[in-house]
Amino acid sequence: MRHPEFLSNVSSLYFETSRFGHLLCGWIAGHESEYMETLSDQEVMGSVTQLVRRFTGNPTITPKRILRSQWFHDPWTLGSYSYLAKGCSVQDVENLMEPLPTSRSQAQPVHVLFAGEATHPCYYSTVHGALLSGQREADRLISYYSSRDSSSPAKSKL
Ligand SMILES: Cc1cc2nc3c(=O)[nH]c(=O)nc-3n(C[C@H](O)[C@H](O)[C@H](O)COP(=O)(O)OP(=O)(O)OC[C@H]3O[C@@H](n4cnc5c(N)ncnc54)[C@H](O)[C@@H]3O)c2cc1C
Repeated sequence: MRHPEFLSNVSSLYFETSRFGHLLCGWIAGHESEYMETLSDQEVMGSVTQLVRRFTGNPTITPKRILRSQWFHDPWTLGSYSYLAKGCSVQDVENLMEPLPTSRSQAQPVHVLFAGEATHPCYYSTVHGALLSGQREADRLISYYSSRDSSSPAKSKL
């Protein structure tokens, strides 16, 4: 990927004026965002300046400074949130949410449950998807322990 080509995956630019005055916020995704993270602040600023000048038709606009995320290379995040890439389907999301051991295995009990935005088949990449997925897995545990307790004889709690 040549240097300014990563800008082809900038999906939106909008002004955030309510809190910060003259601030322009841009969104970038895919491999282009990973590539962007390898560039210096100076290189990103140069490319973004070209983009803004081209977009506005004003050749004198010059950002004072930039602040950009590097979540892909941050070992504590390894990215921002999921999306269905070309060739993926909801089946992939459903595979991600399947507890271990899987229902095809006869092994009991459930050992590992998966929640988080990437496991919600409709609302992946959102906060409400993350919340609903947590509730779904909590319900799964309740249902698992309720059925297990009702099938075993009652024990004294003393
Ligand atoms: C810039 C931005 C803007 C967004 N705007 C919106 C919006 O307007 N509306 C909306 O609905 N959603 C928005 N989202 C998406 C939303 O924030 C996420 O979908 C949601 O926070 C995902 O929640 P989660 O619990 O699935 O994952 P996360 O919030 O990512 O939580 C995962 C946690 O696991 C921790 N972790 C990772 N690896 C390990 C490990 N090995 N050991 C221990 N802990 C680990 C991480 O540090 C993190 O705390 C936005 C996201 C970004 C980045």
